[in-house]
Amino acid sequence: MKRKIIATALTLTLGLSGLSAAIPQTTIAASLDEQLNDVKKKQSKNEQELKEKESELADVHAEQEDVHADIERLDKEVAETDNQISTKENEINKTNEEIDQLKEEIAVLEDRIAERDKLLKDRVRSMQQNGGGTVDYMEVLLGSKDFGDLVERVLALNTIADQDKKILEEHKADKLSVEEKKAEVEDKLASLQDKKAELEALKKELDAKKAEKDKLMKALEEEEGELHNHMMDLNESAELLEAQEKAVQQEIKRAEEAARKAEAERKAAAKAAKEKAAAEAAAAKKAKNSSSSNESSSKSSPAPAPAPAPAPEPSGSAIFSKPSAGPITSGFGSRWGSMHEGIDIAQGGEVPIKAAAAGTVLKSYHSSSYGNVVFITHSINGQMYTTVYAHMKNRAVSTGQSVSAGTYLGSMGNTGRSTGQHLHFEIHKGGWNASKSNAVNPMNYLR
Ligand SMILES: [Zn+2]
Ligand SMILES: [Zn+2]
Repeated sequence: MKRKIIATALTLTLGLSGLSAAIPQTTIAASLDEQLNDVKKKQSKNEQELKEKESELADVHAEQEDVHADIERLDKEVAETDNQISTKENEINKTNEEIDQLKEEIAVLEDRIAERDKLLKDRVRSMQQNGGGTVDYMEVLLGSKDFGDLVERVLALNTIADQDKKILEEHKADKLSVEEKKAEVEDKLASLQDKKAELEALKKELDAKKAEKDKLMKALEEEEGELHNHMMDLNESAELLEAQEKAVQQEIKRAEEAARKAEAERKAAAKAAKEKAAAEAAAAKKAKNSSSSNESSSKSSPAPAPAPAPAPEPSGSAIFSKPSAGPITSGFGSRWGSMHEGIDIAQGGEVPIKAAAAGTVLKSYHSSSYGNVVFITHSINGQMYTTVYAHMKNRAVSTGQSVSAGTYLGSMGNTGRSTGQHLHFEIHKGGWNASKSNAVNPMNYLR
């Protein structure tokens, strides 16, 4: 057995030495070089692939950034154009009012001129009848080319009575004023036409921007399959978490202060009720004593009325009010293979969005996914909640602000990753976090 192994080893050694003798050293070196090259090539190919992957990722990231920037830009432009349109509409209304005002003034002046015309004719007639100065007036009247000329000629007569002179001066001034006002109306009408044209252009611009946004959203929808995942980048969620820390502290203080105030009010109301009851009892006793003095005065006074119950605290789970009007168009839960962490409420036109309960605004900002969004921290019966109001047209509250239930937060809109006007509303039992693990079905918490 041992012998056989040795023999094999020998054969191998011999074989190898025979091989090395047969193949020149240079060939071996070349082969090694080749192998090394091969390894190097593979390595560099790997590196190349890695680089490609990295640059692909960077591309995807850059693309996302571009989309975010596009959404923000379009939301901003739509809001700006909206503002310009309402400014233009105000200008048009104002110009219309000014034109109406001028027309009224012209009518008043024309009435006065007509009355004075009649008066002047009467005076000329009476002068003719009475003789005095008739010739002069008649000559002047017959020789005048037009009204202006007539007035000038009559005024030039030194025989004219002071009273007539005054009437004619007024007449002249009124006629001039009418001319000026009519010219002003013409100007205003021209500027009104310009403004209306500008308004039309702005409306077209707005439609174009809205169409551009719709197109972008549609492209994204096709690319990503769904729109409501509301993905945030790390910076955004980090900023939210930081703001949340502050908001929670502030909200605890606000809730304590509100509770203290409610308790003080309850006590004051109870005290007032007790005093009122005592006063009523005393008055009743006095009335009784005076009506029948025989009756015993030692009768005990009636017990004071019980203090009114404190304002009903929201109890149970129905602690939030519906944040806006409109039907619920999409419920909480999995949808298109992913989680919808809130509900959608949609309605056309101007739809105010209101705080679902008292709380502290955690953050109010524009997010490329949520659009104009408001996060509110609530402390209700010792439990923290967070509500989220997304895609708003505008934001009427700011970060750190204390709000009451029903405070106007902004109007329903179509900002961020949204197709069509709607409110995306979330409730989180506890704090908000990036994985939205605290999200609960709002329908179970709405009154
Ligand atoms: Zn939604
Ligand atoms: Zn949404």
